[in-house]
Amino acid sequence: MPSVFSRIVSGELPSAKVYEDDETLAFMDINPASRGHTLVICKEEHPDIFTTPPHLVAAVARTAQKVALALRDALDIDGLNIVQNNGAAAGQVVFHYHVHLIPRWKGDHVLRPWTPHPADPSELRTIAERIRAAIKED
Ligand code: 5GP
Repeated sequence: MPSVFSRIVSGELPSAKVYEDDETLAFMDINPASRGHTLVICKEEHPDIFTTPPHLVAAVARTAQKVALALRDALDIDGLNIVQNNGAAAGQVVFHYHVHLIPRWKGDHVLRPWTPHPADPSELRTIAERIRAAIKED
C-alpha cells in the first residue's frame, strides 16, 4: 500500500506544490503549524532517516534550503524551524521520509517541542563517546 505522500507524487491525491525535481517534491502541509508550513519529501518511498539512501537525504536537504530561501523572500518570515520526525515515539505519522519547514514570526505561539534542561558534563562526554564509537564511515 503506497503512503499518502506516494499517492501525492503519483497525482492520485491533490497537493499545493511549490517545487519539484527528479528526486524530491515540496508541497504545503494540509494541517499547518504556521502559515507557509511546507513539507519536502523524496519521491521514492522510504520510511525514515534510518532507511533512506544518503543521496536522497542530501537531495531533500538541498530542496529544503531552496524552499527555505523562497519562504524567507515570499512570506517575510522572522525565522524557520526545520523538523524531521522518525518513528512513532518521535511523533512521526506518515512513514515516508520528509522534512517540515515551519515559518516563524516574532511573538507567534508555535511551541518548541522540548523543554531544555542543563546536562551533567561528564554524562555528555560518556554519551558522545558511545555515539562516536557507533559512527560508520561511508
Ligand atoms: P509527521 O508527523 O509524520 O512528521 O508529519 C506528517 C505531516 O503530513 C503532518 O504535518 C500532516 O499534516 C501532513 N499530512 C498528512 N496527510 C497529508 C496529506 O494528504 N496532504 C498534505 N499536504 N499533508 C498531509
